[in-house]
Amino acid sequence: MADLANCKNCGRLYVRVSSPYCPECLKEQEKKFELVYDFIRRQENRTSTVQQTHEATGVETDLIYEWVREGRLQSKIFPNLGYPCQSCGRIIQSGILCDSCRTKIEKGIALVDKIDRLQEDRQRGKTYHTK
Ligand SMILES: [Zn+2]
Ligand SMILES: [Zn+2]
Repeated sequence: MADLANCKNCGRLYVRVSSPYCPECLKEQEKKFELVYDFIRRQENRTSTVQQTHEATGVETDLIYEWVREGRLQSKIFPNLGYPCQSCGRIIQSGILCDSCRTKIEKGIALVDKIDRLQEDRQRGKTYHTK
């Protein structure tokens, strides 16, 4: 059964295969990818940042971020490419959050756990009162 979806870029309805974009936009993106790849693979451009690549090729930074996130442009080969942390926007090279946001969130989760446990205790009538 074919899956209909709206293209993430132009909003057109299309039959979704594996990409969130319609075939037209995919073709456009492939062209842009070629541009970016042609630029970045040159020895003198390998250490470019996404911003520099964007300025040199005219390709949207969002697209370049997406390629780095997907691993099409590998930060191992191009050490200054990255994409923004989903929480604070700092440029990172793996995962979805930067180290400091990850730590913050892990601490947050620990806190929520503690509150949950306290509430459970209270529900079981284990709250102690001081006189
Ligand atoms: Zn489209
Ligand atoms: Zn962050």
